[in-house]
Amino acid sequence: MRRVEEFVMEEAALPSAPGEAEHPALALANSAVALPGGHTADLLSSPARAEQWLARRELAPADAGLAEVCATQLRSLREQVRSLLASRAAGLPALPAAVKAINDAMTRVPTASLLLWDERTGPYRAAPHPTTAIVEHALAVIAADTADLLTSSDAARLTACASPPCNRFLLKHGRRQWCSTRCGDRARAARAYARRTATD
Ligand SMILES: [Zn+2]
Repeated sequence: MRRVEEFVMEEAALPSAPGEAEHPALALANSAVALPGGHTADLLSSPARAEQWLARRELAPADAGLAEVCATQLRSLREQVRSLLASRAAGLPALPAAVKAINDAMTRVPTASLLLWDERTGPYRAAPHPTTAIVEHALAVIAADTADLLTSSDAARLTACASPPCNRFLLKHGRRQWCSTRCGDRARAARAYARRTATD
């Protein structure tokens, strides 16, 4: 028998929402998907998953060796990005803490690469905590993209998927309000059902 978690992860294997390919910020915001039945599939639920997610977007090497604390940092940036995207899509003021989190991630200087001296081969430079440097770099790239997305002309097309319980964001093309065909079909079926029960 398959574990519930595996089933939920398969269900979450939706195609990327429009805009995710151009904007890692949108991809991060959409990395915990609410599914029908009250399930949530979190693509960053473990260090291994977070590493896979970053590697797939070329934000980190495949063998970065992420720790739980790194996955936690990504998940926490995700909450701030989601809050800002939701504010922008609804035309509401942003939470100051979310703006600060983006600026902090963007401007935090990655750990300096130190001078080291090998007895045989001589001087070289290396980061004291390579994994921290990798994660901070990825967070900075995503934070910068968040700022770009919110201030670019794309921002006018930013919207939340209109098919409950889906919680993904997308960049609208034309009148399409759904992140995927699956969400569109579900919304249409719900509308048809509402019409039928109203006329009965
Ligand atoms: Zn959706």
